[in-house]
Amino acid sequence: MSIAQVALDTPVAQTFDYLIPPGVTLTEQDIGRRVEVPFGRRRCWGVVVGLAERSSLPSEQLKCILSVDVLTPALPRSLLELARFAAQYYQHPLGAVLLGMIPPQLRRRAAVRGPTPAAYALTPAGVAAIAHLPRHARAQRRLAERLAAGPVDAAQLSELRTPLRQWLARGWVAPLDAAGDAVPAAEPAPALNAHQAAAVREILAAAGRFGVWLLHGVTGSGKTEVYLRLIEASLAGGRQALVLVPEIHLTPQLIERFRRRLPQARLVSLHSGLNAGERAAQWRDCLTGRADVVLGTRLAVFAPLERPGLIVVDEEHDPSYKQTEGLRYHARDLAIWRARQCGVPVVLGSATPALETWLNAHTGRYRRLDLPLRAGAAVLPQIRLIDTRTDRPQQGLTRGLLTALGDTLARGEQSLVFINRRGYAPTLFCNACGHVLGCPRCSAHLVLHRAGGAYRLQCHYCGLVRPPPPSCPECGALDLRPSGQGTQRLEETLAGHFPQARILRVDRDSMARRGRFEAVRAAVHAGEVDILVGTQILAKGHDFPRLTLVGVVGADAALLAADYRAGERLFAQLMQVAGRAGRAGQPGTVLVQTAFAAHPLYQALVRHDYAGWAARALRERREAGFPPYVRQALLRAEARSEEAVRAFLQAARAAALEGAEGVMVFDPAPALVARVAERARWQLLLQSRSRRRLQAFLPPWLARLRALPARGVRWALDVDPIAL
Ligand code: ADP
Ligand code: ZN
Repeated sequence: MSIAQVALDTPVAQTFDYLIPPGVTLTEQDIGRRVEVPFGRRRCWGVVVGLAERSSLPSEQLKCILSVDVLTPALPRSLLELARFAAQYYQHPLGAVLLGMIPPQLRRRAAVRGPTPAAYALTPAGVAAIAHLPRHARAQRRLAERLAAGPVDAAQLSELRTPLRQWLARGWVAPLDAAGDAVPAAEPAPALNAHQAAAVREILAAAGRFGVWLLHGVTGSGKTEVYLRLIEASLAGGRQALVLVPEIHLTPQLIERFRRRLPQARLVSLHSGLNAGERAAQWRDCLTGRADVVLGTRLAVFAPLERPGLIVVDEEHDPSYKQTEGLRYHARDLAIWRARQCGVPVVLGSATPALETWLNAHTGRYRRLDLPLRAGAAVLPQIRLIDTRTDRPQQGLTRGLLTALGDTLARGEQSLVFINRRGYAPTLFCNACGHVLGCPRCSAHLVLHRAGGAYRLQCHYCGLVRPPPPSCPECGALDLRPSGQGTQRLEETLAGHFPQARILRVDRDSMARRGRFEAVRAAVHAGEVDILVGTQILAKGHDFPRLTLVGVVGADAALLAADYRAGERLFAQLMQVAGRAGRAGQPGTVLVQTAFAAHPLYQALVRHDYAGWAARALRERREAGFPPYVRQALLRAEARSEEAVRAFLQAARAAALEGAEGVMVFDPAPALVARVAERARWQLLLQSRSRRRLQAFLPPWLARLRALPARGVRWALDVDPIAL
C-alpha cells in the first residue's frame, strides 16, 4: 500500500490521502494509528483510517506522512467503527469525531508516555525474535541483553529509546504494571436480596451477547451492588467493563467503592475534571489493555477498549449524557450501539428512566428488571405536599417547612433544602414601575448575586457582571427590590430563623473549585452540617446517612416552563432529591412546597409512582406528537443580525422541502432565549415518525445547506435534541 487515508480534525467531512514515505510500512494493523502530516502550512496529528494502492488525486499533489506514532497502539477497530457511526448519525465530520475521542494532549503531540508504564519486559514474540538479531544491530543487541535478564526500568533504558520504540511497535516488549505489590483483600459483598439476585442471574444468563437491560430501581435499591456483581463476572471472564456515570463529582466516591470491592482490578477513571496529563495516561491505559474497569462521564463512552464484556450506564436518564456542542452525541445511545457492535450486555440503571427508555422497555426492545425495595434496612421516605395557597411562604419558606426544619434540628439530624436556582434572587425589579432589570446583551433577566457583603447582577447566559444601579433605569425611582428566591437568599433566611444551625450552601458558585465537593461530603458525614441548601448538585447519588428531612422550594417553576421535557426532568430531580432522605434505617420525610398540589406529577410523586406518571406523560407525548413518538433534528443558527439568521433558516427550510418525504419541516422560530451576547438565536425543527427516514434525509440536505450563503451565520445541527 502506498497511500494512507488520514482523518484530521477539520470541519470538512472527508479524509485526506497521504503518501507513505519509503522505508515506512503500514499494514492493516496500523489502521487506527496516529500519524503526523503536513496540512496547509501546519503540521498536525491525525489517525489512519484506511490504506489504498492509489489516490484519486495525482501523486504529485500528495504530500508524505512526516512521522508515525509507534509508541501508542493503534485505536481498536471497533472504536473506528463507533466513530464512523457517530459521525454519520450526528452528521459531524469523521476527523473531528475521531480526534475528539483522543485526549487533547495526544491530539497535538507525539506520544505521551505519562507516569506509567514504569518497566518493560520481553514478550514471547520478543524472546523468539532476539535469537535472530543481526550482528550489526548493536543497539538492539544491547537492549536484548538487558531485557533477557528480566524486566528493566524505563529510566535505565533512556539511551535505548529508539530500538525500544521499534520493539514496542513489533510487540517484542510490553509495558509492565508498576503495581506488582500485594493486592488488598476485597471488601465483603452483602448477600443480595431476592430482586437483586434475580437481576444478576438474568443478565448473566445472557452474558456474551447483546441485550439492553433496564434496571429500574428506586434510589438506594442496590443497583450499584448489581453492577458490581456483573463487573466481577465480566472480569472473571477476562473481559473489561465500562461504567458511565453522569457527573464528575460522583466519581471519587464511586471509584472508592469500586476499589474496595474490586482491589484486584485495574480501575481507570475518565472525566473532564482530570488534568491533561492524567487524562492522557488513563486513556493510554485503556488503549494498552491495562484497564479492567473504566469508570467515567459521558466522554468515557469513547474509551478505547479491545475486550469489553459489559457496559453500564448509571442514571441513564441524566441530561448530562447529551453533549451540547461540537459532536452532539448522547452517551447512552452510543453505549447501546457499542454494546450491540461488541455483542455484550448493556445495563441502563435509573429510578426514573428517560421516557424514551421506558417506552423501549414497554415495547420489549429492552428488558426490564425491577428493584422495588430499598436494599438493607432503609425504607422509602414519606413525601408530603405543603399547599402554598394556604400556608403562604415568607421569603420562600412555609410555616410547615420551617417547623419540620426546627424539629429535625432539635433531634440533631440533618436537613436539605433544595431549590434549583443559584444566586441571591432570580430578578431585581422596580417597586414603583414594575421594571425588571434585564441583560443588555441577552433576552434574559439579570440574576442578583451576593459576593461577600456586596451585591452584583449577573447574566447566566453571557456572563456579564455589573453592580446593581442605585435607581430604576426606567423611572428613576429608588425602590429596587429582589424578587424570588435563590440559594444565597434562602441560606440567609434560614440563618435568620435558625441562628444556632450550621448551614452549608452547595451550588455551582460555591463548588467552583476542584475537590470542593469532597470536602462538603466529608463535612456532612462528620455531622458538621445541620442544614444543606443547594441545587441539583446535591440531588445526585450521595449517601448522607444522617439526613432525614428534605424540603423542596420553588419546584412549580418547572411546571410552567415552555419546554415539554421540563416535567420529566422535574419528576426525576424530585425523586432523586427525595432519595437523599432517610437512607440508613432512619425514616425520611420529604416536604414539597407547591401551589398545584393536585397536579398529577405531584400526586404520582407522593405515591412514589414513577410507572403511573410515565404512562400518563407518554400518553400526552403521543397525543401531542412529541418524542419518543417522533424523531427530531434541530438546526440551530445564530448571528449578530436577526434578519440574517431568519433569512438563512428560511433558505434552509426551502432547501428541506425538496425531498422531505415523511419528514415534517417546521417554520423557523426564535430559540427559548432569543438573544445571547448580542447574537440572535433561531432554530428550525425537523421531525419524522421514522428514524430511518430522518437519517436518510439529513445528509443531502446538509450538503445543500453548506452551499447556502451564510452571511455571518453560525449554524449547527442537533440530532435527537433534548432541549429546544
Ligand atoms: P443504588 O445504586 O440503587 O442507589 P446501592 O447499590 O448504592 O443502591 O445500595 C444502597 C445501599 O444499600 C448501599 O449502602 C449498599 O451498600 C447497601 N446494599 C446494597 N445491596 C444490599 C444488600 N443486598 N444487603 C444489604 N445492603 C445492601
Ligand atoms: Zn447576557
